[in-house]
Amino acid sequence: MSETPYREPTPDGYSAAWADLRRRRRAAALTIASWVGVMGAMPVAGAAAGSVGAGAVLISGLVLMGWLLRPKMRIDCFNCPACGKTFSRLRFAQNDFARRCVHCGIEMGTPKNAP
Ligand SMILES: [Zn+2]
Repeated sequence: MSETPYREPTPDGYSAAWADLRRRRRAAALTIASWVGVMGAMPVAGAAAGSVGAGAVLISGLVLMGWLLRPKMRIDCFNCPACGKTFSRLRFAQNDFARRCVHCGIEMGTPKNAP
């Protein structure tokens, strides 16, 4: 039994959405970091494998570039909890690591009942 008289407050919809956005951005950053590591190791692997290996290395790099698209798409599709529009993407411009919604300007992490 807890000694506190009240239950822990449940997170509002905004804080759950912000946590989701942070998770998506963390996944994208980890994907980019791992991609840079793999691409850095590819010339060494290609040199060790010879001319036939160079083609395989090139194809592997292209496949890995496709691997980068998924976390980017997840960030692009995140909807702002305040206005419901895409948080970081306008029609022709986007900032995947924006701190404020590009439509309504609400800052990431703002609670639902903030003034
Ligand atoms: Zn918004």
